[in-house]
Amino acid sequence: MKYLGVIGDPGKKSLSPVFQQAALDHLRLEIVYEAWPTPPEGLGLRVKGLRAPAVLGANVTIPHKEAILPMMDELDDLVRRVGAVNTVVNRDGRLYAYNTDVAGFLRALREAGQFDPAGRRAVIAGAGGAARAVVAALVQAGAARVTVINRTFSRATKLVEDMRPLAGHTDLQALPDAYISWVSAAVGADLLVNCTSVGSDSSAATEPASEEVDSPVPADVIRSGAVVYDLVYWPAETPLMAAARQRGARALGGLPMLIYQGAESFQLWTGREAPVEVMFEAARKALAAEEGGAA
Ligand code: NAP
Repeated sequence: MKYLGVIGDPGKKSLSPVFQQAALDHLRLEIVYEAWPTPPEGLGLRVKGLRAPAVLGANVTIPHKEAILPMMDELDDLVRRVGAVNTVVNRDGRLYAYNTDVAGFLRALREAGQFDPAGRRAVIAGAGGAARAVVAALVQAGAARVTVINRTFSRATKLVEDMRPLAGHTDLQALPDAYISWVSAAVGADLLVNCTSVGSDSSAATEPASEEVDSPVPADVIRSGAVVYDLVYWPAETPLMAAARQRGARALGGLPMLIYQGAESFQLWTGREAPVEVMFEAARKALAAEEGGAA
């Protein structure tokens, strides 16, 4: 038997074990995909475990995507550019780092969102590992302007400085998380992406969502006709998505990106093309069961 898993915050639910296991079982591969909850102080030990011969690799999620990078043996070019890792492959005890969020985001934006970012203006909420992948993807796709707004302003400026050498014709800027920043950035934006964890539902049963608190973007700055893309996939409909629809914007949730980044990771570990429809079906069932249980 071989093993895969997702390394993430112990307090955060992940759908990856559900849809990755469904795909592995569909192809009759003798591989178990587990949840590997890991606090920041346990990350070093967890990475040591990845070198075991029976372990094929892992996904890496919030909050470890940047912290795990120096613990890797080999970095894919995209990981160097993005500065964040979401997939690790164990090859004979050496750990190879990849970032499949970039391709996952672009495929979801184009296929599920029917949106081509070339020449368009985008605003990004957040400056963590996911935001790095999204900014790199938008630069790669030829966006005209990308504005990053984050609670910790220094993290936003660092992201923009790191990406600027690769930005080509994309105008990159960072703004502090203040209402006035949102007003000025969102007014001409075609695309708004939530790359923060705000709105994610790790305590659905106990804390009902409040639109005021659970959206990273002031609702009144959302422009009618814009595309609003929330990377959060749990719950399927976030307060930001609801606000976007109310304002006449088009809202997309995080599920397609989750599946497409997972499909790329699956191929890296197994060498097989991922059965994406099987993955979507398993993930949707799990989301529906969770939301039914929380109601
Ligand atoms: P991360 O590296 O830990 O970054 C978290 C980001 O959220 C930071 O910008 C942080 O701001 C911000 N944040 C957290 N709590 C906040 C609050 N209360 N108010 C304002 N900002 C807050 O995490 P990540 O890996 O980038 O993931 C971010 C989110 O994207 C998660 O919900 C994750 O599940 C989701 N995601 C989804 C997909 C997908 O496939 N759909 C892929 C990747 C990530 P500070 O810098 O100020 O702390």
